[in-house]
Amino acid sequence: MMTRLRIGLVGAAGRMGQAIAEVAASENAEIIAKSDLGDQITSANADVLIDFSSAAAAEAICDAAMKSNIALVIGTTGHSAKEKQAIETAARKIPVVFASNFSIGVNALFALTERTAKVLGDDFDLEIVETHHRMKKDAPSGTAKTLAEILQRARNTKKMRHGREGMIGERERSEIGIHSVRGGDVVGDHTVIFAGQGERVELTHRASSRETFARGALRAARWVIGKPAGLYDMRDVLGMS
Ligand code: NAD
Repeated sequence: MMTRLRIGLVGAAGRMGQAIAEVAASENAEIIAKSDLGDQITSANADVLIDFSSAAAAEAICDAAMKSNIALVIGTTGHSAKEKQAIETAARKIPVVFASNFSIGVNALFALTERTAKVLGDDFDLEIVETHHRMKKDAPSGTAKTLAEILQRARNTKKMRHGREGMIGERERSEIGIHSVRGGDVVGDHTVIFAGQGERVELTHRASSRETFARGALRAARWVIGKPAGLYDMRDVLGMS
């Protein structure tokens, strides 16, 4: 029998906040403290603080978790270097899972992307296309950035191309293209394209519900409680690292 998980939730009124509230009961979890924009972030008596709010809240969220000395799960994306630094500093004191995507399928996509890049080698051009609903604020998505980092490591390059317009000349072999499509209610699609001479490989993940992210975040929350201070990601939670 799973022990009851007591959650402090930041961004409670948002799409992901509501998705977490919807799955909590079936995961033997209880949201004992909620905060949203303009509220004091509270985590007293919680086992873990879960954040799906905005990157601008990172410092306040880290402070709240450190003050209560509890674990932190961050799902928010789009952090600046300074906001990421606040998370890294907090992870020296408390255990933190910071993941751009909590779905198992996307974490399989991460592993397949790494493997495919190695198998195909340098002759294939690499492009990432992500599609999200019209309300999404950051671009490219955190998941697309993670995919880009995986490809950059595999190719040993830092070159990125965010969209294309005008007489830009031929594609550079070493660049990684990254493109954001926005519209409607798309929960989140990601495609990695490996385009070679006479053939093309495309790896695609499509999320059709936020439930997968919510259940993944609760799984991460259960996993991270009691871990030593440190910065973890979903691959650690799933035992894939
Ligand atoms: P949303 O806009 O529907 O919800 C965000 C909520 O946070 C809103 O209710 C907003 O009022 C609140 N908020 C904003 N600033 C705040 C602050 N300073 N303090 C407290 N609350 C604040 O967005 P969403 O679709 O729920 O996504 C939230 C974040 O989670 C985004 O960054 C998104 O990219 C990310 N996300 C991550 C995953 C993942 O698996 N890691 C999955 C989906 C979404």
